[in-house]
Amino acid sequence: MDSALPNYEQAAKRIAAYAAGRSKEPPPVEQASLEHCGGRVLAQRIVADRDQPPFARSTRDGFACRAAEASRHEPLRIAGANRAGDAPSGPLPHGAAWEIMTGAAVPAGADAVAMIEHVEAQDGHICLHESRTLKPGENIVEQGAQARAGDKLLPSGSALTFSQIALAASCGYARLDVFARPRVAILTTGDELVAVEAEPAPGQIRNSNGPMLAALVAAAGGDPWLLPTAADNAAALDAALHQAADADLLLLSGGVSAGKFDLVEPALARAGAQFHFTGVRIQPGKPLVFGELGRNPKAGLRAEGRKRPLPVFGLPGNPVSSAVTFLLFGAPVLAALAGRREFGPRFALARLGQKTKKHALPGLTRFLPAHCDFNPSTSAEPEVALVQWQGSGDLAALARANCFLVVPEEAPQLEPGALVRILLP
Ligand code: AMP
Ligand code: MG
Repeated sequence: MDSALPNYEQAAKRIAAYAAGRSKEPPPVEQASLEHCGGRVLAQRIVADRDQPPFARSTRDGFACRAAEASRHEPLRIAGANRAGDAPSGPLPHGAAWEIMTGAAVPAGADAVAMIEHVEAQDGHICLHESRTLKPGENIVEQGAQARAGDKLLPSGSALTFSQIALAASCGYARLDVFARPRVAILTTGDELVAVEAEPAPGQIRNSNGPMLAALVAAAGGDPWLLPTAADNAAALDAALHQAADADLLLLSGGVSAGKFDLVEPALARAGAQFHFTGVRIQPGKPLVFGELGRNPKAGLRAEGRKRPLPVFGLPGNPVSSAVTFLLFGAPVLAALAGRREFGPRFALARLGQKTKKHALPGLTRFLPAHCDFNPSTSAEPEVALVQWQGSGDLAALARANCFLVVPEEAPQLEPGALVRILLP
């Protein structure tokens, strides 16, 4: 069936190659204060400005001491105390211990910290419990064990989440260079669509793909730009494509199937598009179109100086198809345009928890709405089950799902208990 069309792997390879090429021309750089950097992409290196930890650090509340002395179980005199924030002190006299709090600097001369729970304290002395011994290095992280001053800790192109932001903070970066978010034009098409706030007349439906794609784009690091919905006629589509000329990425929804009013592909062709593929052997989402529009005034789009061609996806209009094709193909291209070093999609393995009927469609890789329990009570693996659905227009099913079960083209029979792949949003 349609063996001229690429299968999923082939289309994914073309997307990955395209994304790799585009990632070589990162977007402009802007600055953001650190607390606003979540979800952004780093446009500089993070370098350690000092050793981490900056001093030998106690990981416990207790008593810094010499391990060999403490392990003899003789009383050690408490010679001083160090709280977190105190300047490093010491040296520790022989036969003595130094009271210490978690995060405090270990005094010079001490080589271990005895936990407070493991000692008996009396009359200004401590004694390690008979049942315990202490090894040198115990409960201490040596200065520079995590990173040395000058170490390159994060490269440009790193996606910034909580952990990278914490690391940047610890190195003294109050502001960061980040890449400007790519502007992603979202053009919904269809005579049947009305705006969310409008009352649909008989036969009409609300435009849910616009807001859905805006959410997907924002989550993938883009700046969504919702254009007015275009009607299913050539003039409206030509005008709408013109409007999108300044975007960094263009997503169209609807109008790419084989129906009489599916006019998107011809409109893209009139605008001078070069197509990378027009259809992929997947379900849902088979009519997906991926191409590029030249920034060429002769082709009807405004010239944009040095700007590279505008990548464009014609996503099938059914909501589940739009979501799946964006996650599989649109999001990796967007990640590359956003300057990220790694571009998805993200897959994981899960245990199929239920009996499934036959879900094979000959020649097609399927991505079916599913719910994965990532916190299963009985088994170590996340357990996934298909969500009941009425086909690719079923928004209620889509909203109950938190992933998509992959039904491979070559091994479509999935037995309960099998390890299966899931596509993560
Ligand atoms: P199409 O790909 O244009 O043939 O659209 C297929 C079906 O998807 C339409 O009949 C609608 O039911 C639905 N659809 C298309 N566009 C949207 C949209 N923007 N929001 C919600 N549903 C849509
Ligand atoms: Mg349509």
